[in-house]
Amino acid sequence: MPAITADTLTLPRLSVPADPAWREPYKVVTAQKFLEGEGFQVRRPFPGVDLALADPFLLLDHMGAVEYGPGEAKGAPWHPHRGFETVTYMIDGAFQHTDSIGGGGLITDGATQWMTAGAGILHNEVPPQEMVARGGLFHGVQLWVNLPRALKMTTPRYQDIQATDAALLSSEDGGALVRVIAGSLDGHDGPGATHSPITYLHATVSAGARLAMPWPADYNALVYVLSGRGTVGAGRPLEEGQLAVFGLGDALSVRAADTQPANSPTGWEILVLGGAPINEPVARYGPFVMNTREEIVQAFEDFQAGRLDQIPAEHLAHRTTADDKLVE
Ligand code: MN
Repeated sequence: MPAITADTLTLPRLSVPADPAWREPYKVVTAQKFLEGEGFQVRRPFPGVDLALADPFLLLDHMGAVEYGPGEAKGAPWHPHRGFETVTYMIDGAFQHTDSIGGGGLITDGATQWMTAGAGILHNEVPPQEMVARGGLFHGVQLWVNLPRALKMTTPRYQDIQATDAALLSSEDGGALVRVIAGSLDGHDGPGATHSPITYLHATVSAGARLAMPWPADYNALVYVLSGRGTVGAGRPLEEGQLAVFGLGDALSVRAADTQPANSPTGWEILVLGGAPINEPVARYGPFVMNTREEIVQAFEDFQAGRLDQIPAEHLAHRTTADDKLVE
């Protein structure tokens, strides 16, 4: 995987305080398959479960890993968002991003794009032309992070986070590589600036290795498997496409299985995420996530009236018929 790698023996080691309250998984969910955008397949572990379990996260879309043939790669043409943040982490392949506030760039090779939609933004997320022409491996994740009521109408913001910006850590035995993309882990801060307190990690756990880490007691805790297999907590199995929701405590422990499947030669690839629940009512419809139904209706009206922002003029020539459907 072209996610960033490092010699784990040279990295700071995670340490867990003596006699921690280990969190145990109380629910395991297998991701459902959906078609997104122009028709690319995603695995979605949540929503689909009680949203309160994932709060402050709203959605996790695991894109791929898929080997596209020439002409097959697809994206999501111009569409709006309001009331939350989208976080796109690309492991293999690339997404070309353009938005209505002038943000944009190529997200590739372990880079993360953090887009705060806030009051409103329009964006376009598509594979670059040369990747569409040539085909190739595509693997990434999009996470939706909710905004509290007071920040739903905040000014949109775009953060371009390179793979090399991530804080890199290792497990006590040196057998796991942890990339802190946002938030903080054991006193090490990741690069992503977040509006509400969360931690977001990608860990590669070598076959047979154990990864233990302190975890804030006031955060929820979720582990999602990108590839490979292992166990969480005292020994609950967790495989590719599965999400574990943890109970209370102040530390997490996971272990990679001694043998890994052929599609995961680097080990067990997992995302670990959690945050302080926002605990507010959620009204969501399509690309808008607000607190009340009235605010959703307002978002549609604002979008239709062009008040939510406009597709930049220089991109209008590149719109497709799919774009027109969205703005009717
Ligand atoms: Mn989007």
